[in-house]
Amino acid sequence: MADGRGPGWRGEGCAETHQRLVSAGAAVNEGHKTHRVVVVGSGFGGLFAVRELRRAPVEVTMISRTAYHLFQPLLYQVATGILSEGSVAPATREVLRGQRNARVLTGDVTRIDLVDRTVTSVMPGKETITPYDSLIVAAGAGQSYFGHDEFAEHAPGVKTIDDALALRGCLFGSFELAEVETDPAVIERWQTFVVVGGGPTGVEIAGQIAELTRRTLPGEFRNVDPARSRVILFEAGPKVLAGFGGRLSDKAARELRRVGVEVRVNTKIVGVDGTGVDVVAADGTRSRVDAMSKVWAAGVAASPLGAQLAGQCGTQVDHAGRIKVEPDCSLPGHPEVFVVGDMMSLKNLPGVAQVAMQSGRHAAAEILRRLQGEQSRRPFHYRDKGSMATVARFRAVAGVGRLRFAGFPAWLMWLVVHLIYLVGFRNRLTSLLDWAVAFGTGGRSERTVTRSAIRRLQAEAPPRLGSDHGSAQPSPSGTPGRLGSSAPPTRRPPQ
Ligand SMILES: Cc1cc2nc3c(=O)[nH]c(=O)nc-3n(C[C@H](O)[C@H](O)[C@H](O)COP(=O)(O)OP(=O)(O)OC[C@H]3O[C@@H](n4cnc5c(N)ncnc54)[C@H](O)[C@@H]3O)c2cc1C
Repeated sequence: MADGRGPGWRGEGCAETHQRLVSAGAAVNEGHKTHRVVVVGSGFGGLFAVRELRRAPVEVTMISRTAYHLFQPLLYQVATGILSEGSVAPATREVLRGQRNARVLTGDVTRIDLVDRTVTSVMPGKETITPYDSLIVAAGAGQSYFGHDEFAEHAPGVKTIDDALALRGCLFGSFELAEVETDPAVIERWQTFVVVGGGPTGVEIAGQIAELTRRTLPGEFRNVDPARSRVILFEAGPKVLAGFGGRLSDKAARELRRVGVEVRVNTKIVGVDGTGVDVVAADGTRSRVDAMSKVWAAGVAASPLGAQLAGQCGTQVDHAGRIKVEPDCSLPGHPEVFVVGDMMSLKNLPGVAQVAMQSGRHAAAEILRRLQGEQSRRPFHYRDKGSMATVARFRAVAGVGRLRFAGFPAWLMWLVVHLIYLVGFRNRLTSLLDWAVAFGTGGRSERTVTRSAIRRLQAEAPPRLGSDHGSAQPSPSGTPGRLGSSAPPTRRPPQ
């Protein structure tokens, strides 16, 4: 009881202790009185599972590589300067502070041993082995580059706070570098933003970058006109937001074009490097788009922990690396282990927040039922509450059951739903204020771009790009400067 939390709370770092625990893992489990539930991941699946256990006579240990609960659906607003990272990623410890039966460990889970019933997690220089009686694995999914992992270096995804902050630095930093540039072609490259993937994430990012360039930044620069920036959304299929159905998907494409996004469907990305992308259209035509900023929002791959578990229990993972689970979300042959959220493959359920929340809660409820002596296993039934995506300010699309909404009513629904599900009153309040500023005035409160972010961008640029700083001659303040002559010969700002 070294930490006063009762037996079974084990976080010691020394190698001998680990050895002892591993070899004695099963025995430790048998001798323990209070039922120990370990939850891997602090996303939607993990957090909702832990909360469901708040009044249960169990000891819960949540282990996650991030010390925060991330509200991923609003990450793009962190990246585009609307919300602060704190608003969408409250510290998990703070969220669970009042839940006395729960403990939070930060660490990367590297191994789950189904025989010894232990979870190994690692912090730099520190390894912890935590035994469990029941386990809920909710480690989510990362980005998939469809076999082209080399694209990741130049076209990062937006899955984590680090990704969002890096993208923010890239967006705002690009304009700083364009402002001191003299070569029109180079300016155009800094002012071209490529978004890959026409699903909800890609659509939301592209829409917000366009609004940033058309509503927020104009008037702030003297050498470049942000409103002349190009924002290009590439989608390999025939439509953006294909999952929303034809009518909504067409409306979304129209709305994107209205705010200034070039929507290129039926176009595949076949190459990505530091200065642009190579694309192939449906008719086989290959072309090149020069762009320093590229964002990847296409495809997901479940956490590799899924394949590790599948290997141990002789089941399979699907094409996205999700593990096939039993109808009650447990692992075949291991009723004490549940896999939920983006990691699970069950009845073709989509990788969305509601599936993660509901399956996390279901797994926790199943553990409780069994502790109460119930022998039967209840299958997981998903209640589809609909889906929505914002396209631009005051514009969204939403599908709830058979109903379809677009425009302002859908945007209002989006606003209310996101306010409800954001964790914590303070975050709801600050987000509401930030939205009032962003949508009401066009201003954005989170625009800090650090020197290191600019240095990173310069490092990405070909040597010539970074070499002539100081030689640029911005026009005297207040004049249109070189816009007429050297601004990129691109499209007009939207009317
Ligand atoms: C940019 C973006 C926008 C989205 N927009 C929407 C939307 O509008 N609507 C919607 O319904 N869904 C949306 N989604 C999908 C939704 O966010 C996911 O379906 C949901 O977060 C899945 O929850 P999860 O708990 O399974 O995984 P996650 O929320 O991804 O949580 C996984 C957790 O596991 C931790 N973890 C991962 N690996 C390890 C490891 N090895 N060791 C320890 N911890 C680990 C992570 O740190 C994280 O805490 C969006 C996703 C993204 C990325």
